[in-house]
Amino acid sequence: MKFVDEYRREEDAQAFVRAIRAKVTRPWTLMEICGGQTHTLMRSGIDRMLPAEVTLVHGPGCPVCVTPLTQIDRALAIAQRPNVIFTSFGDMLRVPGSTTDLLTVKAKGGDVRMVYSPLDAVTLARQNPEKEVVFFAVGFETTAPANAMAVKHAKALGLTNFSVLASHVLVPPAMEAILSSPQNRVQGFLLAGHVCAVMGWTEYEPLGARFRIPMIVTGFEPLDLLQGIFMAVDALENGRCGVENQYVRTVSREGNAAARAVVNEVFETCDRAWRGIGVIPKSGYRLRPELAAYDATLKFEVAAITTEEPKECIAGEIMQGLKRPSACSAFGTRCTPEHPLGAPMVSSEGACAAYWLYARA
Ligand code: SF4
Repeated sequence: MKFVDEYRREEDAQAFVRAIRAKVTRPWTLMEICGGQTHTLMRSGIDRMLPAEVTLVHGPGCPVCVTPLTQIDRALAIAQRPNVIFTSFGDMLRVPGSTTDLLTVKAKGGDVRMVYSPLDAVTLARQNPEKEVVFFAVGFETTAPANAMAVKHAKALGLTNFSVLASHVLVPPAMEAILSSPQNRVQGFLLAGHVCAVMGWTEYEPLGARFRIPMIVTGFEPLDLLQGIFMAVDALENGRCGVENQYVRTVSREGNAAARAVVNEVFETCDRAWRGIGVIPKSGYRLRPELAAYDATLKFEVAAITTEEPKECIAGEIMQGLKRPSACSAFGTRCTPEHPLGAPMVSSEGACAAYWLYARA
């Protein structure tokens, strides 16, 4: 397939592995931020091809995984209301809340629907004026522009029966939290190319300078990741810090100005709780006060719902690079994709799901 196969050639992959071997002289720990990158690394076997000196740990880059149980329980409370059509992308539907999940609510008669775009939810609101239509707006900076557009579109149409349960999270504050931890072991980052395609990389430059750490904007195909790892190792071995760009075919330093503008028009930054990690200051988006009519948390008065994360699930430690999924006592026994205890085992971007799917220990 053109524009895909050329990023998956085995002989090129082997050349990158040889180059990494030739470059590395001592142990380095790198964190890939995006759960999609985690799955590509495992699926293509890159983690097994690398020299022993290079350790990969998996960051908090799966949007489903970092959404806290409190927010899942709020979604479930709204979805169980009789006059509600609750809409979501597919991988949130099986994430367990404290007592049930969205698919079970649907099976019991709740009107829960999977959509492929937040604009589908706006269309449902137009078609069902007697119902309240809610969209579960989960994700990083990548999904924020489309969700912001949906709110703008609903407002332009004069819809009063559309709202979003906003659970957006932002990458740079999470990286700052990881780097500030006394337990931190991350020495270099592979930045998520799609987040940087929207936001650019100027936000990362102060982090690179402050923590003296290299950050490589990296794509999602196997050769992208191998080149990103090579660039990170090269930077570490030569004492360079700051941002470098592997994903030049997609990302510029400034990102997408139009997308950022619509996000800033609809959302403002707020403190946000991350699953298993806790509240990280200024790490989320919420609707601006003038758009409060579209805020499902306010409309359905679910802010009082708060839920403790189960102690058994160590998702927080995994997403900070402190432990591997296989270190969880429930991994592969009480927690499997068929019977998940935590979100990282459900999501197609979750690290626990990757370790299970590709049989990593
Ligand atoms: S294996 Fe299951 S319980 Fe353990 S950290 Fe992963 S999702 Fe949580």
